[in-house]
Amino acid sequence: MAGPDSEFDLIRRYFDAPAAARVSGAGVRLGVGDDAALLALREGHELVASVDTLVEGTHFFPDHPAASVGHKALASNLSDLAAMGAEPSGALLSLTLPRVDHAWLAAFSQGFLALASAADVPLVGGDTTRGPLAVSVTVLGQVPAGQALRRAGARPGDRLVVTGALGGAAFGLEQETRRRAAGTGAANADAPACERLFWPNARLEVGRMLRNRARAVIDVSDGLLADLGHLCAASGCGARIDWPVVPLDPLLAQAPPAEARAAALGGGEDYELLFALPADESLDLLAFGVDAPLTVIGEFTETAGIVVVDAAGQPLDVARAGHDHFAGAEANKPEAMPTGQGTDVEARD
Ligand code: ADP
Ligand code: MG
Repeated sequence: MAGPDSEFDLIRRYFDAPAAARVSGAGVRLGVGDDAALLALREGHELVASVDTLVEGTHFFPDHPAASVGHKALASNLSDLAAMGAEPSGALLSLTLPRVDHAWLAAFSQGFLALASAADVPLVGGDTTRGPLAVSVTVLGQVPAGQALRRAGARPGDRLVVTGALGGAAFGLEQETRRRAAGTGAANADAPACERLFWPNARLEVGRMLRNRARAVIDVSDGLLADLGHLCAASGCGARIDWPVVPLDPLLAQAPPAEARAAALGGGEDYELLFALPADESLDLLAFGVDAPLTVIGEFTETAGIVVVDAAGQPLDVARAGHDHFAGAEANKPEAMPTGQGTDVEARD
């Protein structure tokens, strides 16, 4: 059917040129409109592919600002490419809509395409169907053969480094959850408290710079402890986090210390990169070449498990702190905000 609200009309109106054409997409031979997209691979490169799905009520609030849903759907995928050291080549968007809501679609596509344009990721295709609201994005990228960064590879003695600051998204989620519990409804999309939650950044440039430098990389999507746990498990080692030097999101200055710690260690969706830097790789040199702050927050260890220590080197009991303070937020996030429960957190004594 080709009526005014047909699938084809929606695609043309919101997801095809001219908006999508703002993106240069040098490697795109064939984009939206044919049976499939066609991308040119660069010589000596490997294809990197990743997919992530956001479901209404599960990954975003029913009244979540639509532009932010579009932005996050792409940003979370680009973060996975960043963590592989890959450069994005294109994205595919699978959209399941309960009804045709033009205001929602206009804002959603604006949020998605603004980031696509800024990150130079052409939207090369997708699928549009009817059903409960869900957004699934597939990103395709390329990396020089053999140079992809993995979770495996960290060795005892490597420095544990994180980009940017942590806990901002968890803080925003906590604020939003409280607003709803109080019946206040959705925040303004520009609310400073929700900056990280609504408009996360993918560290694509840092990821590229880490090729041949970092030994193992992961993006912090589930929380520092959980994602470091994944990296350690894949690498077959443990890690120590020096809590006093963990960079906190400025928003956490407003939070009580226990909540700030829970957000920084357990909160997800910050999309920073966490990596293992060998002792002979200069951090200063690396920091010079990237647009994000880099902080050494600890070290990889021979002993399995993750310990978080205070300024005196004494282990902190982090698992409980996380759980108490973010119990409410977990209800909104089925992939429960990991606060150390599923992670191998051990006391040192
Ligand atoms: P097919 O029946 O072959 O799957 P579709 O009718 O689903 O084709 O899609 C037609 C064209 O529009 C394809 O090129 C597809 O990639 C693209 N497309 C469909 N939905 C979207 C979307 N939400 N965003 C971008 N491109 C889309
Ligand atoms: Mg289709």
